[in-house]
Amino acid sequence: MRHRISRSNRFLVAIAGMMALAILLVGFAYAFTESERLDIQRDSSQASDLWAAADRLAGDVNAQESAIDDYLFSADPQAVSRYEAAVTDETSVAARMQAGAVELPGLLSAITELENATATWHSSFAQRAIAAVKAGGGAALGPFTSGSSPDEEPVRAALAQLTVQLNLVESNLRLRDDALATTRTAATAFGLGVLVLSAVLSLWLVRRFGRTLEKDALRSVILNQFTEAISFAADDTAVAKANIDALTLLVHPDAGVTHVLNHSQDRAVPESILGGAVAEVLTLKTLSTCAGMIRSSMYVSSDLAAPLSVHCPIYPADHGTLACIPLVSGEAIGAMHLYWERPRALPVEIRRSVAQFAAHAALAIGNRRLLSLLAGQASTDARTGLANSRTFDLALEHALASRADDEVIAVLMLDLDYFKDFNDRHGHPSGDEALRTFAEVLRSCMRDGDLASRYGGEEFAVMLPGVDTEAAVTIAERIRSRTELAIMSLAPGITDRITVSIGVAEAPIQALDRTGLLRIADEALYQAKADGRNRVVYLGEAAMVLTGPRRESGPTYAKSENA
Ligand code: GH3
Ligand code: MG
Ligand code: MG
Repeated sequence: MRHRISRSNRFLVAIAGMMALAILLVGFAYAFTESERLDIQRDSSQASDLWAAADRLAGDVNAQESAIDDYLFSADPQAVSRYEAAVTDETSVAARMQAGAVELPGLLSAITELENATATWHSSFAQRAIAAVKAGGGAALGPFTSGSSPDEEPVRAALAQLTVQLNLVESNLRLRDDALATTRTAATAFGLGVLVLSAVLSLWLVRRFGRTLEKDALRSVILNQFTEAISFAADDTAVAKANIDALTLLVHPDAGVTHVLNHSQDRAVPESILGGAVAEVLTLKTLSTCAGMIRSSMYVSSDLAAPLSVHCPIYPADHGTLACIPLVSGEAIGAMHLYWERPRALPVEIRRSVAQFAAHAALAIGNRRLLSLLAGQASTDARTGLANSRTFDLALEHALASRADDEVIAVLMLDLDYFKDFNDRHGHPSGDEALRTFAEVLRSCMRDGDLASRYGGEEFAVMLPGVDTEAAVTIAERIRSRTELAIMSLAPGITDRITVSIGVAEAPIQALDRTGLLRIADEALYQAKADGRNRVVYLGEAAMVLTGPRRESGPTYAKSENA
């Protein structure tokens, strides 16, 4: 989550950077072209000055010509004055024009050309025409009044050249102006483009971030529900099912199966199956061929149809996507396989979530096992593996309390005979071995629902629900005889055997509560000892005791003894 936020932040910073760059670029484009813009402005005002001056020069040339013409035909001194004024004006305008066109060599030479042409016209035509008029006119005027002067042509040509040069200056100015406008338009368009792109990217990012937040929220909700479900799960199957259900909500697989190792860790049982998943009971050896188990972490085959893709022997499929997820909590608990018909990429954050859910499920199953192990240790006798006295008392009380009216419950009290002597003869470890052998004999005589316990030292108690006196005596006799027949090998060349004395009591005929029932069984056992040991005693209905001290007088009793 934090990773994604920082990535989004980096993206936002990049977008902001892009926006700033775009603005800077447009700013630079305008700043760098500003001096050119001012130059163009200045040059175009100069060009219009030059145009005005050129117009005036043309006017002056025309005025000179018409003044000379007037003078030739009317000899009016005013016309000479007009001619001279026009010459003066032409000279000053040409000078100003030259000063303004210093950096324009073409224009400069056109002006010089014009000046030279007009100077030639002045000397070869105008001055001479004035002198001819002043000399009295007549035939002297002939060369000036017939036809046009040949020197006017260069003047006209120079004027035309001046116009051409000014047009050149103008078109050059227009080109520069166009280039400026193009540069600025392109920069503005580019900047605006980048700004629009940045805005679109920001919007997209904000929406994407929103969706990411939504997804994270959904993931948290599923994780909470899943955690709650597994904390109330009754067994491994419920945990595995909650896990598959949660992952279905999260990553929508088409099929899936969770294998959980049984308590003896030799078989992996499919506890939860989704879709048409392949699900068989597996040996531990087969389970350990799973790619995820080998790697001890999730392994995803993104496209099983692709060459070189890894195929998991536990979930054979030739196309689609397969995720092998080991369930580990200290030790291997099992494995989960999720399958998608169509190949799909599982992004890193999804893989992380799947692994997290699997780790939770494995922890839940592991914790349940640990708890049941601890509970088993608290209720079991470590030496023999039988229930301990506390468990026996609780079970007996529970059986008596939930007993139907017509239901009988038999209880046996058993004590090994002369066990102190046995210890003395063979040593305490051999005594322990004898206790274990006797526990095995007891177990071999029990059916489902019976409970055998080590009640203390070399004393044992057995509960037989639904068993009447006769059957109880038969079972006790079987225990007695099997014990007697069990020959124990204690050391090389040394064997021995033990015997047991058994007292039988029965609810509800003799007692209704645990203490009363045990007391009567104890009395029967006492009687068996008193009668010589290695026998079964049932004191009969007369021995019925509800409360009170151990009876002293010997009642009538049924007994079985060894031959
Ligand atoms: P009886 O036939 O009258 O029952 O004679 P007994 O010797 O069995 O009777 P007693 O109660 O005097 O002795 C019980 C002996 O059982 C004493 C004790 O050393 C032995 N014992 C009790 N618990 C254990 C045990 O866990 N391991 C071993 N090796 N011996 C035990
Ligand atoms: Mg004993
Ligand atoms: Mg004893």
